Amino acid sequence: MTALEVSDRRKQVFKISTGSTELDKLLAGGVESMAITEVFGEFRTGKTQLSHTLCVTTQIPNSTGYHGGKVMFLDTEHTFRPDRLRPIADRFNLDQTAVLDNVLYARAYTSEHQAELLDFVAAKFHEEAGLFKLLIIDSIMALFRVDFSGRGELADRQQKLAQVLSRLQKISEEYNVAVFITNQMTADPGATLSFQVDPKKPIGGNILAHASTTRISLRKARGENRIAKIYDSPDLPESEATFAITNGGVADAKD
Ligand code: ATP
Ligand code: MG
Repeated sequence: MTALEVSDRRKQVFKISTGSTELDKLLAGGVESMAITEVFGEFRTGKTQLSHTLCVTTQIPNSTGYHGGKVMFLDTEHTFRPDRLRPIADRFNLDQTAVLDNVLYARAYTSEHQAELLDFVAAKFHEEAGLFKLLIIDSIMALFRVDFSGRGELADRQQKLAQVLSRLQKISEEYNVAVFITNQMTADPGATLSFQVDPKKPIGGNILAHASTTRISLRKARGENRIAKIYDSPDLPESEATFAITNGGVADAKD
C-alpha cells in the first residue's frame, strides 16, 4: 500500500466511548479501532466492569459519524455477567433486550481453545461484514498462565501468545474493529534493583508490550473511584484520568 492508501484506510478509524468523559479524554476519544487496547491492574480495579460498559457503549452512535455496532466477548475467567449489562443499558436509555442480543459471547477453557475461537471470531466478522465493532478478551493471559505454569515453558508460552496477538492485530485491521484486552499483574523481580516506584508490572512480557497499541494501567482510588494512566502509546502523553465504577457502568467520578 502507498502511504496515501494507508492514510485513507485510517480515516475509517473510530473511537468507542468508555462511559467516562475523563477516560475518553485520556484516550483521545475512546477505545480505538484497528488497534489493540490493553488495560491491566490488580484485582477489583475495574477491568471487567469496563469490559461490560464497552459492551453497551459500542452500540451507541455518536456525533463523529460512528454508527454503533455489535460486540464479541471472549471470556477466559468466567466473570461475564449478561445481567450486568441491563442497568448499563438503562443508563444510556437503550432497550435491555436489544443490547444483550447484540453481544455475542464465547467462553474459552484452555489457551488452545482461546486461540481456536479466533477462527470462529474471524468467520463471524466476515459473515456479518461491518456489523461488529468491538472484540473483548477478558483476560488475555489467564489461560496461558494456567497452561504454561512451569519456568521451562515460558518460551513456548510466549510463542503461542505471539501467534494469538498477531491474529488479533490482523482481525482489528481487516475488519476495522477495536480489540480490547484485559491483563493481570505480577510482582517485578527486578523492581528492588531498579528502585521502581510501582513494583508490579503487567504479565505477557515484551511480546504483549509490543502487540498492544495502547496500554493503560488501572489502580484503586477512594471508594468507587479508579485512576487510569497511559502506560504506553504511540501518540498519547503519559497522563492520568479518574473515573468511577457505578451500577450504570464506568462513569465520571463525582468530585
Ligand atoms: P479481576 O482482576 O479480579 O478480574 P477486575 O479488575 O476485573 O478484577 P472488576 O470486576 O471489573 O475488577 O471490578 C470490581 C469492582 O467493581 C468492585 O470494586 C465492585 O464493587 C465494583 N462493582 C461491580 N459491580 C458493580 C455494580 N453493579 N455497581 C457498582 N460497582 C460495582
Ligand atoms: Mg476481571
